[in-house]
Amino acid sequence: MLTNYHCLYCQKKIDRYTLYSLYIEEDSLCLDCREKLNLKVRKFQIDDCKAEYLYDYNSLFKSILLQYKECYDEALYICFLYKIDIYLYLKYWNYQILYVPSTKTKIKERGFNHLKLIFEQLGLKEVNGLKMKEEIIQKGKSVADRQKMINNYYYEGSFIKRLLIVDDVYTSGSSLKGVLKAMKGHYKKVKIVLLSRA
Ligand SMILES: [Zn+2]
Repeated sequence: MLTNYHCLYCQKKIDRYTLYSLYIEEDSLCLDCREKLNLKVRKFQIDDCKAEYLYDYNSLFKSILLQYKECYDEALYICFLYKIDIYLYLKYWNYQILYVPSTKTKIKERGFNHLKLIFEQLGLKEVNGLKMKEEIIQKGKSVADRQKMINNYYYEGSFIKRLLIVDDVYTSGSSLKGVLKAMKGHYKKVKIVLLSRA
């Protein structure tokens, strides 16, 4: 039996010739896209926190993320944790997960919470109670805008023993730093996982 599948991103045909590839190997991207994405865990520090990210910030990654986030191609969520979900689960199974919040306007426009859709596959308990003071759509790159983002979150939830904060891309870090600031004193231990780092 030969069934045709298509790469979720470039639409190229993927032939699955063997029983193995048909039933077990079920990557939603073609081999070309997968290779170019270059999955590799890299560690760095954000202030005092240990962070790691998964993908190079290359043109393919950017364009897949754009199609997913801004063109609302929801189905693409499945490609981001492919082959890394087990690693993340084994490392963070006893952590509670916190998605860096998007504005309500963005979530409404998009129709889905893009981070949650990706990371909820890990099955970690979610942290609730982090809120935004103002619905700032992050486009301002000025120092004042960044400072505003850093002070734009507050937390009204319970104490978290092990906290895992996740976001898509680490750029200026102002929203992530804002989240860390709001969570200060509310956790015992914190780690950060990002899809990529600009
Ligand atoms: Zn492809």
